[in-house]
Amino acid sequence: MKFSKLFIPTTKEMPSDASLPSHQFLVRGGFIAQTGAGIYDFMPLGKIVLEKIRAIVKKEMDEAGANEVQFGFVTPLSLWSESGRALTMGSELLRFKDRKNGEFVLSPTNEEAVVNMVKNRVTSYKDLPLHLYQINTKFRDEARPRFGLMRGREFLMKDGYSFHSCEEDLVREFNLMEETYKKIYTKLGLDFRVVEADSGAIGGSGSKEFHVLANSGEDTIVVCDSCDYGANIEAAIRKENNISIKKEISLGKIETPNRKTIEEVSNFLEIDASQTIKAVIKKAIYENKTELVVFFIKGNDILEETKACNAVNALSLEDTIDEDLINAGFNVGYVGIVGLPDGIKFVIDSEIKNCNTVMVAGANEDNFHCGMMIDEEGASVGQMVGKFPHVEGGRFLFEEFGHFADLIAVQEGDICACCGGKLSYTKGIEVGHIFQLGDKYSKAMNATFLDENGKAKPFIMGCYGVGVSRLVAAVIEQNHDEKGCIWTKSTTPFMVDIIVSNSKNEDEKNMGEKIYEELKASNVEVILDDRINARFGFKIGDFELLGFPYAIIIGKKLLDGIVEIVDRKTLLKTEVKIEEIVSKILNLIK
Ligand code: ATP
Ligand code: MG
Repeated sequence: MKFSKLFIPTTKEMPSDASLPSHQFLVRGGFIAQTGAGIYDFMPLGKIVLEKIRAIVKKEMDEAGANEVQFGFVTPLSLWSESGRALTMGSELLRFKDRKNGEFVLSPTNEEAVVNMVKNRVTSYKDLPLHLYQINTKFRDEARPRFGLMRGREFLMKDGYSFHSCEEDLVREFNLMEETYKKIYTKLGLDFRVVEADSGAIGGSGSKEFHVLANSGEDTIVVCDSCDYGANIEAAIRKENNISIKKEISLGKIETPNRKTIEEVSNFLEIDASQTIKAVIKKAIYENKTELVVFFIKGNDILEETKACNAVNALSLEDTIDEDLINAGFNVGYVGIVGLPDGIKFVIDSEIKNCNTVMVAGANEDNFHCGMMIDEEGASVGQMVGKFPHVEGGRFLFEEFGHFADLIAVQEGDICACCGGKLSYTKGIEVGHIFQLGDKYSKAMNATFLDENGKAKPFIMGCYGVGVSRLVAAVIEQNHDEKGCIWTKSTTPFMVDIIVSNSKNEDEKNMGEKIYEELKASNVEVILDDRINARFGFKIGDFELLGFPYAIIIGKKLLDGIVEIVDRKTLLKTEVKIEEIVSKILNLIK
């Protein structure tokens, strides 16, 4: 390809909202162009990269035995009503009406569409397993589209869905997909990590994410320094943190005048923060209601919002302000387990259960806290009969209002539950996610097959996503310098950029053409920078911004039979004899 023939509108101008290198360089390099919030066009170079990634994904999916299909980008809302997600997806699902007032959505994912495709067409266990996938546009009306291709509203995803007659076969496919994804990211030349994940709104159990490690990643990944445990912080676990007991506390009410925060209370009582119980109050948003929920965690812990949201089966959680709490009858600063306003639900972090220590929580009364010992069913608060509502014989039972769940965010330095090693954080970009869905969608949409005994059963399903357009950005987040992109060999639009230093010099120009033809004949993806009116410095600047792995510079040394190879990664130059240039390049790109 000749530079002069390809539409590559590079620019020095930085998009004003671009904080990430991938966003800056992909726009400045003329790979992509923004047309609306979270909506991008791919220009020729961007399209080449996108297609390369798509081809690698397709090849590995086909090799794993999946069938490529294509679902409509537009699906009738009725399918989403069948699954129940018309109600639960919220505003991310873009809905619209056609001229006949029919309701439709732009597909954000395709569980409904695939169940609809398979339902009544696959009827026997003999036709299972089956894995269908597509590489197609998705639309999610993200609340905060940002970071260029990283979090768009319209984006390209590979989404695959498998159907099985039993759980064991689903697990087999799930493991096969994990291996397939590892092959894909390895082929793309990426440094990545497979981690345990939360299953999010799609539901189901057993889910793993694939993260490209990069400082700019939106996700916090917890990794162990001595085994290969890795998890998204939303799903990470640790070995239980011990409570540090500096002083025994007795059961019952304790006066804590004006001491509200964990720090004030623990200083005042001369105990460690881990011996206190902190109340974090959130608004839980459901399909048809919003309610306040209290999450109780140890004073030195941090609430993990995704875990908390899952613990109360809410669609999402929102922060509260003091006014919300006062209106609901809370004693702000003294909120505790016993004596909450009537009807308020609460969840207690599992680590607090059976810790056999008297811990200090709020007493739901201004200027008071309470020493209590928590077990599976309730809290013992000593002989305080009459002073706490719902307390009988020193016991407060949780009954239907409270339960236990893992609520805490693992912190750096915590101990690995698998091996006892030390946990730490790293940042990742989620580029893939695989789920064991089970029968959630097949059951809801009444999609069944007949088993060996002729009995109708809902399909057991898995689903598997790769963020194809996000990968374009992820490659650059992991591979760039202050000058621009550095593509990996399997994603680069061109392997070699031949830069003719002065295109008006006939010898240089002819040599450029000659090397160009020879490299092409050797199947090297090569671009010839033949722009007559661009100066050498400008061409080099473009090479650095565009990030092709190598440049061949044809300049003054041509008179001595020498050209230079520039390695984009190191920017080091090597002189090479003209007759050796092709073999040298073939060697480098092997
Ligand atoms: P995230 O947590 O980043 O919002 P998700 O968990 O909602 O992603 P999935 O439903 O698992 O996403 O979709 C599969 C893959 O699609 C993700 O792993 C990610 O790589 C990609 N993806 C999801 N949302 C976007 C988006 N808004 N823009 C670009 N790619 C996306
Ligand atoms: Mg995901």
